[in-house]
Amino acid sequence: MSTIVAISTSPGIGGIGIVRMSGKKCFEILNKFFIPKKKKSTIKGYTMRYGKVVDNSGKLVDEVLVSYFVAPKSYTTENMCEINTHGGTVVMNQILEICLQNGAVLAEPGEFTKRAFLNGRIDLSQAEAVIDVIHSKTEKESKVAVNQLEGNLSEKIGEIRKKVIEILAEIEVTIDYPEYDEVEITEAKISRILDETDTLLDKMEKSFLNGKILRDGLKVAIIGKPNAGKSSLLNLILNEERAIVTDIEGTTRDTIEEFITIDGVPLKIMDTAGIRDAKDEVEKIGVEKSRKASENCDIALAIFDVSRELDDEDREILDLIKDKNAIIICNKIDLEKRLNITEIRSLGKPIIEISAKNKEGVENLQKEISKLCHLNEIALDGELIVSNQRHKSHIINAHNNVKKAQEVVDNCLPIDIISSYLKEIIEELGKITGENVTEDVINEIFSRFCLGK
Ligand code: GDP
Repeated sequence: MSTIVAISTSPGIGGIGIVRMSGKKCFEILNKFFIPKKKKSTIKGYTMRYGKVVDNSGKLVDEVLVSYFVAPKSYTTENMCEINTHGGTVVMNQILEICLQNGAVLAEPGEFTKRAFLNGRIDLSQAEAVIDVIHSKTEKESKVAVNQLEGNLSEKIGEIRKKVIEILAEIEVTIDYPEYDEVEITEAKISRILDETDTLLDKMEKSFLNGKILRDGLKVAIIGKPNAGKSSLLNLILNEERAIVTDIEGTTRDTIEEFITIDGVPLKIMDTAGIRDAKDEVEKIGVEKSRKASENCDIALAIFDVSRELDDEDREILDLIKDKNAIIICNKIDLEKRLNITEIRSLGKPIIEISAKNKEGVENLQKEISKLCHLNEIALDGELIVSNQRHKSHIINAHNNVKKAQEVVDNCLPIDIISSYLKEIIEELGKITGENVTEDVINEIFSRFCLGK
């Protein structure tokens, strides 16, 4: 395998930048341009050396610190070094260039982690967890990803898979050597293991909803007729001037999306164009988006202006949310109240009073969102959560085969029929940890990584 190199820190200016190299020739290449202050003949892993990087003509490029990792004790399990440079893009690019000139090749996105996987240090689900840790938006999300990186998911999958392999082996023995007549014991055991597997996979499958919420956030749509105060509410929630607030009706023409965190759960807040009859083309698109957003959201925040009487547009909004997870927000409580609340109350949704203008009532709103979505109960400590769509589909496939196998046992059909189902379960679970996935799947997964990881 070639020796790869990449800039691992994010582009832009920073205090420190890291150029990372991995492969057989890593130290050989490094020696061509790195002059350590103290020369030592042997290289020890987990050590650092201070020195200078010079270009091919011997000119000084930067003062650096180099960390050494000796195979197999490194991220990739190969010889590795990390050159800590000053964080300017010019210096990092120069050092990268020097590595390339001396025989390294530019790493593809995720190639360091791919090597860790191909060299057997981590399995595929752990490699995927690396991306999730990097992309985490909240502490809870990163906790789930770190658990997966630690191998919690792989361990559980490994345990289930091992048990299924065991019963498959026993079945094959009874088929191949019928004289060992222990079928009854085997059947009882098969039944027990299938039930255990069923329970575990069911739990994993169900955990995906929470995993998805932690990963993608709950979709919250702010809906209401023009001028009810949607943009003002968004600003209040975000505590910043993100949306343009005006008193000309229908100015929020596009949908604005922002993330906030409540109880460690990310919420994707969408402010939509006012719901009303479209008068011009641009407005029409906005109205369409509003309707769609309210249909596709997990929670709708329906906002009403208490200084005005309820009109048909408001009633249209009430109709949109009647079967939804929704909170009704009565805005502008600083003004004289003209809104008759009885009609709104009849919907039976929680009602919060706020003044977006005076920044009143936002804490109550946050509490209500948390209560409505049981945010506190998502990702409790120690709970195994499946947050990856790929894993979920293999779990579902495995689970379906468990059910088919259970049916065979329940209907007292010949036990050898279940072999093919068990093989499917083993294969599907193996795909999660990467035991039997195609190269295309592997390439697709690692292409989602950033450079230098
Ligand atoms: P949107 O069209 O629903 O997005 O409404 P905006 O957020 O743009 O607000 C429309 C108008 O109502 C602006 O002039 C805001 O300043 C005003 N407004 C919003 N919230 C309040 C409030 O709580 N009290 C008062 N008095 N005015 C508000």
